[in-house]
Amino acid sequence: MKLYNTLTRQKEEFQPLKGKTVSMYSCGPTVYNYAHIGNMRTYIFMDILRRALKRNGYTLKGVMNITDVGHLLSDGDEGEDKLNKAAREQKKSPAEIAAFYTEAFMADIEKLNIGKPELIAKATDHIGEMLEFVVKLCEKGYGYETADGIYFDISRFPGYGKLSGINLEEQRAGARVEVNPQKRNPADFALWKKAAPEHIMRWDSPWGPSYPGWHIECSAMSRKYLGPLFDIHTGGVDHIPIHHENEIAQSEALEGKKTVNFWVHGEFMMVDNGKMSKSLGNVYTISDLEGMGYSALDFRYFCLNAHYRKKLNFTFEGLTGAKTALCNLRTALQAHKAAPAAAPAPDLSGYQKDFAEAVGDDLNIPYALGVLWTMVKEGKKHPAVYAAASEMDTVFGLSLDRLPPAEEKKSRSAVIPAEILRLAEQRRQARLNKDYKASDSLRAEIEAAGYAVIDKPGNEYEIQPKAEK
Ligand code: AMP
Ligand code: ZN
Repeated sequence: MKLYNTLTRQKEEFQPLKGKTVSMYSCGPTVYNYAHIGNMRTYIFMDILRRALKRNGYTLKGVMNITDVGHLLSDGDEGEDKLNKAAREQKKSPAEIAAFYTEAFMADIEKLNIGKPELIAKATDHIGEMLEFVVKLCEKGYGYETADGIYFDISRFPGYGKLSGINLEEQRAGARVEVNPQKRNPADFALWKKAAPEHIMRWDSPWGPSYPGWHIECSAMSRKYLGPLFDIHTGGVDHIPIHHENEIAQSEALEGKKTVNFWVHGEFMMVDNGKMSKSLGNVYTISDLEGMGYSALDFRYFCLNAHYRKKLNFTFEGLTGAKTALCNLRTALQAHKAAPAAAPAPDLSGYQKDFAEAVGDDLNIPYALGVLWTMVKEGKKHPAVYAAASEMDTVFGLSLDRLPPAEEKKSRSAVIPAEILRLAEQRRQARLNKDYKASDSLRAEIEAAGYAVIDKPGNEYEIQPKAEK
């Protein structure tokens, strides 16, 4: 199986370090808000990689972290801790915020058929390991103290920048005014931060009440669970220049050698060819899509149409196309399943070979999906085709054996306008804040526009058109 390694910038033959077991670390979500569909694209990619490895006979030892401390508003060590901010604004404890959004994330990945990694580790459960890591880095001369925290001195680590290929000299020339004048180099990053008096999350340390930087959690947890050298590290491409560059610096500085064999990154999802952002109102969650009549697996199918290393532009036209294609695929497979098995089985080995080659070629899933479609469309109906497709689905994870929804047409006409979804979201927020007056008036507004909101447990809801118009 070939995989593109970001570090070497080429496709390489993948071989695990130890026999048939693959050790893999995946950067998990920062649980201060609902994960959006862009985040989910990255976890679908992680899942496809895990499934492909399993199909090739490997056993997975996967670790994913849950970031519940340390991730600041900017990836470059500036701004407030995201969890701290959400807790302050919502008048809840950081642990409550983290628990709520972790549960929502787990519910989403289940709907998306994303298999859970073998171990899921919370950053706040590993403060001791992180602190020990930072103390060791300081002892080795890589860490130094400033007024607001402990920083990593990148000039002590000559390999800094090798993952992203950034030119530190150019970066220095174009650097903006440094917020922390005590930093020795502009790209030095925080290992540990001293807690301001109003900072909620804080732990004792040799530097007083403080909390970990963001990057250290992944170095400390991967080391604890996967050892000083492991097979694969995954994440989204936005992590290459800062988070993963910093992870490499910390881990290699501690071990004195390479700690990850393959760095594998998923490209970004765009919306309307641009960045997703709250201010543009184009950030969607899986629940949003469901409220609009699409299933989580329609979205998964949409993602599988693009190679994981290509940017993918999200549009509702594209998602509707994916929904139709998935429905047609399931319908066609049901016909194969129901066909008489007595007839001689068609020879499917050519398709199976092409499928395996595509998956083994740096996860060429769009091509593999094409092979599946050709197999399903060509030749006579036969249950062997259904069986072969089900086997391929161990990689796609599309639940192809499910019956196509009988009310497919009905749900397609039930695509809900974005304005109604916005009102419904506002209503959810109002209900969370126990502002029932606002929530009632929002319901009235939604109903006046011809839609009904049906409340579901756990603050979920469904929107339906009240009557055909
Ligand atoms: P975060 O919760 O911000 O730590 O991000 C979780 C994961 O989602 C990380 O692996 C990011 O690289 C990834 N990610 C963030 N935004 C996008 C996007 N628009 N498209 C694809 N992946 C993304
Ligand atoms: Zn990470």
